[in-house]
Amino acid sequence: MKKRFYLETYGCQMNLSDSELMAGILTRHGYQLAESKDDADVIIVNTCAVREHAEKRVLGHLADLLRYKRENPDVVLGVCGCMAQHLREKIIQYAPYVDFVIGPDGYRELPEAISRVIEGHTFLNLKLDKKEDYADIEPHRQEGVRAWLTIMRGCDKMCAFCIVPFVRGRERSIPMKTLIAEVQKLAQEGFREVVLLGQTVNSYRDGEHDFSDLLIAITEVDGIERIRFTSPYPTDITDKMIDTMASSEKICKQIHLPLQSGSTKILQAMRRRYTAEEYLKLVEKMQKKCPIWRLALISSSDSAVKRRRIF
Ligand code: SF4
Repeated sequence: MKKRFYLETYGCQMNLSDSELMAGILTRHGYQLAESKDDADVIIVNTCAVREHAEKRVLGHLADLLRYKRENPDVVLGVCGCMAQHLREKIIQYAPYVDFVIGPDGYRELPEAISRVIEGHTFLNLKLDKKEDYADIEPHRQEGVRAWLTIMRGCDKMCAFCIVPFVRGRERSIPMKTLIAEVQKLAQEGFREVVLLGQTVNSYRDGEHDFSDLLIAITEVDGIERIRFTSPYPTDITDKMIDTMASSEKICKQIHLPLQSGSTKILQAMRRRYTAEEYLKLVEKMQKKCPIWRLALISSSDSAVKRRRIF
């Protein structure tokens, strides 16, 4: 009988997309998605480390899973994602009943981790791998009209307050050819909207091609009607990108543009690469080009603390 896995996801859209990736890896290895943890042979908690509150919630949830593990000792319990990378010692100390811990660059090893645990071992893979982009892995997506597509991983910006470069590693982009083939396949499967994901999504680069070139290429895919992306970094918004967005009907006129602070002094302390004045000028420029643009100025995401059910 096929082994069944249950995935619990905390955090941002990148993490939701990573859960689809993990589900893709496991289904390709013969595992089946379980409806609930009560039906599962393997429980995976995909964690977030962006906020302390999120970490506390995950640790609290792991304490609940201890009770479950006591009642179901054969269930394999794994912790993956950013918090696994960041808090490995804490997890090992507070939740020694966790069978495997895997960071964001180690998901390929999920099937091996589960096999090793079944053989009686624990498993740990927290190596960051600058080359890992999972470009060849087909995610197991939720059904619907909207598909998330990770186009780049990691971040090189090194903001003073942020842990992402240390838990998700340095920036790397997935080849444009691979992404376009994936979008064509999504269109054939009936998806009508793609949401491009990346920690600083518009830093995307593949050789000579930048984020605008990727946007243009995706607008040319028949069947795809709407394109969105998150999260852009303000100084990586070029005139070419604004023109591309303004001129294509397929690219939604909505952008979440992280501001972080309205004070230049604080922005400098945060090691953001723009001043408050430059940010406002950028907004003005975008709105001039396209007056119907809806801008949501965000300082942080509440999504980081939520536990989500995606399957
Ligand atoms: S750009 Fe975003 S992901 Fe990168 S370090 Fe700054 S806050 Fe973190």
